[in-house]
Amino acid sequence: MPELTARDFRTLRFLLSAPKLSALPPANRPEIAFAGRSNAGKSSALNTLCEQGNLARTSKTPGRTQAINFFANERLRFADLPGYGFARVPPAIKAQWAALIEGYLAQRETLSGIVLIMDARRPLLDFDRQLIAWGGAYGLAFHLLLTKADKLSRNEQHKALRTTRAAVEGATAQLFSATKRIGVDEARTAISTLLAGDLEDPAEPTPD
Ligand code: GDP
Repeated sequence: MPELTARDFRTLRFLLSAPKLSALPPANRPEIAFAGRSNAGKSSALNTLCEQGNLARTSKTPGRTQAINFFANERLRFADLPGYGFARVPPAIKAQWAALIEGYLAQRETLSGIVLIMDARRPLLDFDRQLIAWGGAYGLAFHLLLTKADKLSRNEQHKALRTTRAAVEGATAQLFSATKRIGVDEARTAISTLLAGDLEDPAEPTPD
């Protein structure tokens, strides 16, 4: 079975930004979605995994209208879902985000799995759980990335991992740090596993 290589991550480039479901790119490549609360460290994790300093933008302005950002190469796509969870965002905007994310999860037939990025110090908050529930309802597989692990002691790291694994049945979970580059290979392997069976051989890309 073809597996992802470091090159598959390094060659991903910004494709487009979809502010609504009608603007999604055609579903013609296997796709992995990245989700997480704003400030959880999603952009940093994507940039680290893809070895690109500024693929996903870090520290975006809170509360700004958000979109699903797509990164692509000839083999696969990453969909960077809008960050959620800013306290002062008006309910109407929150509802718009929720509708975009849920609509995407519900209808995206090329979606192979979701990487849910959470601050290892505060995993599984409200919307994280909501997302897992939606994904579960659509039969989607999750990999939980507990990032900023460098901010925890070894004991705290293990506790966070244990608690998260126990709380979410059927999902895989790991510790990660963008700053200390902890868990990069493990995350790439997990993404490969989510894609397993959906990837084409790199020598035979599907036509556009
Ligand atoms: P996003 O909103 O989820 O995309 O989060 P960002 O990637 O923009 O990160 C939010 C903040 O957390 C920034 O100040 C980052 O520098 C910091 N950050 C992200 N990842 C890590 C990490 O692994 N370790 C530490 N210590 N800080 C991180």
